[in-house]
Amino acid sequence: MCSSSASSFFKTVTSRLTLRYAILITLVSVAFFGIISLALTKSLAIRMDEDLTNEIREMETIYHVRGIEELRRQIDFEIESEGTNRMFIRVMDPRGEVLVTTDMSSWGSIHPPGGREDLREGDEVIETLQMPGKSNNARVASKRIAGGGILQIGSTLQDDEELMEVYREGSALAVMIMLVSGGVMGWFMARRAMAGVERVTRTAVSIGKADLVSRVPLGNEGEEINNLAQAFNDMLERIRGVVTELKDVTNHIAHDLRSPLTRIRGIAETTMTGRQQTVDDYREMAEIVVEESDRLVGMINVMLDIAMTEAGVQDAIKEDVNISRLIESTEEIFQAIAEDKGVAFQVNVPRERLFVRGNLPQLQRMISNLLDNAFKFTPAGGSITLSLEERDTHAVVVVADTGIGIADQDLPRVFEQFYRGDRSRTTPGNGLGLSHVKAIVHAHKGDIRVESTPAQASVFTVILPLTVPVG
Ligand code: ADP
Repeated sequence: MCSSSASSFFKTVTSRLTLRYAILITLVSVAFFGIISLALTKSLAIRMDEDLTNEIREMETIYHVRGIEELRRQIDFEIESEGTNRMFIRVMDPRGEVLVTTDMSSWGSIHPPGGREDLREGDEVIETLQMPGKSNNARVASKRIAGGGILQIGSTLQDDEELMEVYREGSALAVMIMLVSGGVMGWFMARRAMAGVERVTRTAVSIGKADLVSRVPLGNEGEEINNLAQAFNDMLERIRGVVTELKDVTNHIAHDLRSPLTRIRGIAETTMTGRQQTVDDYREMAEIVVEESDRLVGMINVMLDIAMTEAGVQDAIKEDVNISRLIESTEEIFQAIAEDKGVAFQVNVPRERLFVRGNLPQLQRMISNLLDNAFKFTPAGGSITLSLEERDTHAVVVVADTGIGIADQDLPRVFEQFYRGDRSRTTPGNGLGLSHVKAIVHAHKGDIRVESTPAQASVFTVILPLTVPVG
């Protein structure tokens, strides 16, 4: 239990960011202190070498100009202030015999007399040597002087090494402090950055408990978090719209199913319990049952058709449909209806044949639905025009009528399933015709628009991409 909560803690973005901040700050501080340490070591070494070089030259001058006795006095003077365990000076003749030397008891066998045969006259060498029996090193300068002798000056590096040791310990402590403060700082920064994400999560959880009204409040953690919150809120708004639409559709279906089913049930009840009826009465009742059932089945079929067209599982859009010919054939069918209703019906098709990639039965259904409505809502004496034209790379089908028009408040909703304008309640219909048209148009990658002058005219415009038929 404990280990699983620990492992889930290490899976959080906050803990990972904290770890990364801490590691980054530690690496940066290690690099910083490392570079300083290198620079310090180098500058100490340079200073030490300069001191040794100056010292050896001074001794050499004294030896040559004033002789060995003066050199001895100078050495005694030097060694008095430095101490024999911190510095040594000695002069050897060409055979390696020591002519002058300070007390070498602290220096043991460091660089034995007679060594450095490799040096030629005037050559000078400075090297770091381990002090015998001690943990410190020493820096030793050797020079072959005129006459073949060797002048040597050694200085302990104890002070420099102790200084560096103190520096290293201080740096290690500073790195530890940086590691801890980097972790704490990282933790606060990560918590702050993740606060917005947690707000989105809290809202998502509350929505999981069936609350579609909640929205993620926008904060000041940064634009990315606000963009995430905004995208989430937009998505919620769309989901709420879809759910509301779904509820409306369900209500409509329930309502539209109830009346015919109640009628069918009433007839069945009369047949079972009512007085004896004549054969004609029974036939009439059966006709009503068939008629209501057909209406129900028709409605269900249209709904299924719309759902399948929207989902793209209808017959594939795979043939080149001659839409010019399709519209001309429609003219023949609807001309008879127009004469019956006393409405003028005109069809305009350009001479050049236009083709769209599509599904013929669906396109037929699209045009019939639009014309059905036009005839339904246009009283005698009015006129209806169906026209086809080519616009750039598109075929444009326009159905215009001089009917009852569409009220401004109905216009944006006429393509919704089951939506029926107030003025059309008295005409037959189920509010599915235009949503079917819209589903077909979208399945053909087209677009549909409607314009209307209320109480006067309506114009439906369908735009479909043209295709060039093969062969
Ligand atoms: P239905 O025609 O069965 O009512 P539709 O989906 O075909 O359903 O149309 C939805 C609504 O759009 C209609 O109820 C009507 O109010 C309005 N409408 C559609 N076409 C026209 C038209 N040509 N003239 C006036 N109103 C129309």
